[in-house]
Amino acid sequence: MPTCQHCHQKWTWKQTMKRTATIDTAYICPYCGEKQYATKKSNIQFSLLMLIPLAGMLLNFFNISPWFIFSWLILGSIAIFSLFPAVLKLTSTEEFFF
Ligand SMILES: [Zn+2]
Repeated sequence: MPTCQHCHQKWTWKQTMKRTATIDTAYICPYCGEKQYATKKSNIQFSLLMLIPLAGMLLNFFNISPWFIFSWLILGSIAIFSLFPAVLKLTSTEEFFF
């Protein structure tokens, strides 16, 4: 789970999801109110997680049952939502992706 780099409090899964549901790259810590950002490394790991459901899309080209692809997409999304807070690492200074 992500830990605030300012007050060193661990965020819960629910708190993390609530904060990352916004398009803003800054997440406000629920404990100290300081702005936190995702580290470059966790952004890269999150992009890799996004590849799981995308790989399901590619299976379309191999004539695989649509039900298999459909359940792959559902499971992929569940995996992303449950793994995201575990992957997310916070930093007090914004790091740019590129
Ligand atoms: Zn904090």
